[in-house]
Amino acid sequence: MERPKVLIVGGGFAGVECARRLERQLQPYEAELTLVTPTSYELYLPLLPQVASGVLTPQSVAAPLRRLLRRTHIVPGGAVGIDTDAKVCVVRLITDEMVNERYDYLVLTPGSVTRSFDIPGLDMYGRGMKTLAEAAWVRDHVIAQLDIASATEDEAERAARLQFVVVGGGYAGTETVACLQRLTNSALRRYPRLDPSLIKWHLVDLAPKIMPELGDRLGRRALQIIRGRGTEVSLGVSVSEVTENTVSLTDGRTLPCHTLIWTAGVAASPLIGTLGLDTVRGRLAVTADLRVHGADGVFALGDAAAVPDLAKAAEGEYDAICPPTAQHAMRQGWRAAGNVAATLRGEATQPYRHKDLGLVVDLGGCDAVARPLGFELTGLSAQLVTRGYHFGALRTGTARARTAANWVLNSLTGDDFVRTGFLARSAGRLADFERTDAYLSQEQRDKLTSMATSRPER
Ligand SMILES: Cc1cc2nc3c(=O)[nH]c(=O)nc-3n(C[C@H](O)[C@H](O)[C@H](O)COP(=O)(O)OP(=O)(O)OC[C@H]3O[C@@H](n4cnc5c(N)ncnc54)[C@H](O)[C@@H]3O)c2cc1C
Repeated sequence: MERPKVLIVGGGFAGVECARRLERQLQPYEAELTLVTPTSYELYLPLLPQVASGVLTPQSVAAPLRRLLRRTHIVPGGAVGIDTDAKVCVVRLITDEMVNERYDYLVLTPGSVTRSFDIPGLDMYGRGMKTLAEAAWVRDHVIAQLDIASATEDEAERAARLQFVVVGGGYAGTETVACLQRLTNSALRRYPRLDPSLIKWHLVDLAPKIMPELGDRLGRRALQIIRGRGTEVSLGVSVSEVTENTVSLTDGRTLPCHTLIWTAGVAASPLIGTLGLDTVRGRLAVTADLRVHGADGVFALGDAAAVPDLAKAAEGEYDAICPPTAQHAMRQGWRAAGNVAATLRGEATQPYRHKDLGLVVDLGGCDAVARPLGFELTGLSAQLVTRGYHFGALRTGTARARTAANWVLNSLTGDDFVRTGFLARSAGRLADFERTDAYLSQEQRDKLTSMATSRPER
């Protein structure tokens, strides 16, 4: 007898945790499990700034799906369109071939992409910190700027190469500027021709404070640490234009510079916008048990979904939705697995409820700020909690061992400042690395799904 087919789209925190739980909760005869994902690993995004700064190797934060999943069939590609009436998902394989994946139950977890704005030049020259390739690209690019600055005799060129701008004062931007600034500072002893006073890092945010979710005291402490290391922080300011060698700010300054790292928030995967379903602030509207309104058998979670935050609702914030964090995505994955299994068996589903455990922010070296369970920590104790949290949250023992070994090795021996050159010919655009332009229009999707019988279908 044919088994019901559960199709999971997205191999991140939400998708992989859902698949792992389903493997445990369902007997093989109860359902066929399939995961559509362009990468062969589950990426631990919170440590990406440490990959960019060379503290960790890329493998440390990429847990292999073949280790994590035992019997889920993996389709290497991205969903580019879904017909929720016909229950067919169109997948562009990594070979660019299109295939149709039929489903009975669909779990949508394609995550988010870097939120960009209509700022001239941003699409061409803004760099993200959302994928492993982006972290590797940024690292090579920053080291390349040091190499070029050290080699050139042109003073203006040297100054421009040594000026770096990070936009976004959330945890991603703050950790990125903190870690990369430590990288360039520690590089100086290997670049004797460079004048340390020429290296300038800027953190820019339109908001009046950085990381408001940390609270005033910890936010101020984080600001003090990064300013103390020499980073110029400009609040209430944004970018008005970017060119290959300048970044213009809304306060009228134009900085000669070849590096703009853009971390000003995230937007739900563009796949969500192609579905024609209800959204809340761009994220797919779902009920508290993670079902999608108006689409039979479809669940959505993680950064792509607007999951009602029942813990905040209990405190009086009735319209609150869960913030886009790994903490929620992972736990929503567990809840979704329980609800898919319950639906398959004709049992009742349960609502998702989780009270935020707080935030940890690694500023490199012994510096960190953390707010676990409401307790405010700074300095070494915050760093121990931060690294302990990440260590525990990594999904495999091998990833933990690699990460711990890298932390020890980096603190003892420092960085080697090696440019790998693997991505040297890539422009590094957000659209290239985050595949934001890969999706089908409704018309293209309907054409492909109506041809379901004549197209390859598993
Ligand atoms: C630099 C940085 C630091 C962060 N630090 C923290 C932190 O300290 N704490 C915290 O809780 N959160 C943190 N976050 C946020 C956290 O990483 C996200 O909230 C979390 O990854 C969301 O999980 P997800 O499963 O929804 O999406 P993701 O983990 O992004 O996974 C989405 C998956 O879907 C795949 N995919 C995308 N499009 C498609 C498609 N069309 N078809 C198939 N597959 C697709 C992607 O390749 C990816 O594998 C950080 C994020 C960043 C960028």
